[in-house]
Amino acid sequence: MKTFCGRANPTTGAMEWLEEDEDYDYHQEIARSRYADMLHDKDRNMKYYQGIRAAVSRVKERGEKAIVLDIGTGTGLLSMMAASAGADFCYAIEVFKPMANAAVKIVEKNGFRDKIKVINKHSTEVTVGPDGDMQCRANILVTELFDTELIGEGALPTYEHAHKYLVQEGCEAVPHRATVYVQLVESKRMWSWNKLFPVHVEAEDGEKIIVSPSEMENCPGVPSVCDIQLNQMPSGDFTVLSDVVTMFSVDFSKPVRSASTYYRVQLEPVKSGKAQIVLSWWDIDMDPSGMINCTMAPYWVKSTSAFQWRDHWMQCVYFLPNEEPVLQGEKVYLTACRDEYSMWYKLQKA
Ligand code: SAH
Repeated sequence: MKTFCGRANPTTGAMEWLEEDEDYDYHQEIARSRYADMLHDKDRNMKYYQGIRAAVSRVKERGEKAIVLDIGTGTGLLSMMAASAGADFCYAIEVFKPMANAAVKIVEKNGFRDKIKVINKHSTEVTVGPDGDMQCRANILVTELFDTELIGEGALPTYEHAHKYLVQEGCEAVPHRATVYVQLVESKRMWSWNKLFPVHVEAEDGEKIIVSPSEMENCPGVPSVCDIQLNQMPSGDFTVLSDVVTMFSVDFSKPVRSASTYYRVQLEPVKSGKAQIVLSWWDIDMDPSGMINCTMAPYWVKSTSAFQWRDHWMQCVYFLPNEEPVLQGEKVYLTACRDEYSMWYKLQKA
């Protein structure tokens, strides 16, 4: 069986999928991947565990058996949490064969063999029924299919399919909800990552300046996210032009639609300046009450003493197609467009 592996295209910077043969050495791939970083993310793990325990309790209080579907089980961590929380049975789905093999061993070693069935398939290939992979639909849906952009790992189509074919109506979902936040900023430093400014070079006969043609200078480039540790960005390197606003939320306990769509919010700039960049991050509520929240908010939004360093989830920098002068108090519309896997932003005057 061939497996898809992600590679950054050095020309465009975009992530692409390459097919690798069966004899490909996946050890390097696993070493480079973020499984260890996820396992070290104590904040994430604690909140998942709290959310899973709460979901199992709610199902049990209704007098039902707790049947868990864990899509993208990786090391099997979330299924083992569910089994420890008293779930009656867990279906742990993992498409990446080397990880599915690891999950089988880890589950076995931790004594959960009777409670967890590891299935090495993409979730969209999983069958339900007496002769299927799953005996019946699950009533608890647990996943961690999110990247820095939230949807870049295919969470939306996976959820859409799972609600149609793999889980019961009214199921509990951990996480219950995700919310994407945005903030408009001006930043010469960040804008320069996306624009070709004149290049200064030292030549024998003095300094020379290389200026690119205006078509190149004004080219908006590919609308793709730049994910970075915004917590490493000094506050002097950008000017906040708007408050933080909610762009959209997804309720994972209800049917999810993955088809391309857009979301629009009205912003009232808090300062005049050049709108260049949309900074964005998300949080997940592990239960419906919103009491168990795991957030990627940067330091100037939420300064927490117990700051969790993580590389598997960072923050997003989106470049607007063109810089747009905005005036304090003069309303603008910010539109987030998305397809199944990525997001991009536009700004319009009201
Ligand atoms: N649940 C683990 C690992 C999360 S990483 C944890 O929380 O620690 C996400 C995993 O999901 C990866 O191993 C990836 O291969 C797998 N995956 C992503 N989409 C999938 C899908 N639709 N079906 C099966 N596995 C999927």
